[in-house]
Amino acid sequence: MLDVSDLSVSYGTIRAVRGISFTVGKGELVSLLGANGAGKSSTLKCIAGALKASGGLITLGGKDITSASPEQVVRAGLATVPETRDVFPDLTVGENLMLGAYIHRRDQAGNRQNLERLHTLFPRLAERSHQPAGTLSGGEQQMLVIARALMSRPTVLLLDEPSLGLAPAIVERIFEMIETLKKSGLTILLVEQNVNQALAVADRAYVMRLGMVVTSGTPDEIRATSDLSAHYLGG
Ligand code: ATP
Repeated sequence: MLDVSDLSVSYGTIRAVRGISFTVGKGELVSLLGANGAGKSSTLKCIAGALKASGGLITLGGKDITSASPEQVVRAGLATVPETRDVFPDLTVGENLMLGAYIHRRDQAGNRQNLERLHTLFPRLAERSHQPAGTLSGGEQQMLVIARALMSRPTVLLLDEPSLGLAPAIVERIFEMIETLKKSGLTILLVEQNVNQALAVADRAYVMRLGMVVTSGTPDEIRATSDLSAHYLGG
């Protein structure tokens, strides 16, 4: 579904991503792990069209999206939840969600149907629909940005560190949500600091270090073959 081949990303002379390759199959949940600065966020931003690749190829369902704009990427069926977890604080929860449906703005009936489905999945957002998004807790804001991304009706979802800075009980709920989304058939690429939790939900994982993929495999293979503290914690 998502195929990244020999991808490189640079910031001036800094080579943040150095020729990495990985795939995410239809309905798969793949985790991208690595220490701070390994190049995970740069990889996601590049796939999302927010950063230009300095080399390599990205295809989505066989279609080349390497040089696509963020809007073209969303239209191609890929939505991203960035780690910044930005909501529009003065807009209501409902208004934030509708902004996620921008590319389907002429299909109001479809948007209402999708919103109903998401309200079932995220009941707290339904309860708080008329409340300014800035008044939500950190965990609720994370739910909101995930739901807002789903309003674009993606086939592939990129999630950048959804557990960052959240209390353990909330992290647990976020991961339950991710599993529910996976069961619904969504293809997911998950960047996580929380290695154990990321491996618990993943079908496969790739470990990055210094802009390169150093290990890949099933969670059991990763646990058995790689020294996670060395690769993940940068030790
Ligand atoms: P983190 O978990 O801290 O976000 P990461 O694995 O996502 O880490 P990136 O954020 O992709 O890593 O960073 C990869 C490299 O690129 C690092 O050396 C980082 O300092 C550098 N980098 C990231 N963003 C920029 C930028 N806007 N300008 C210059 N260098 C950057």
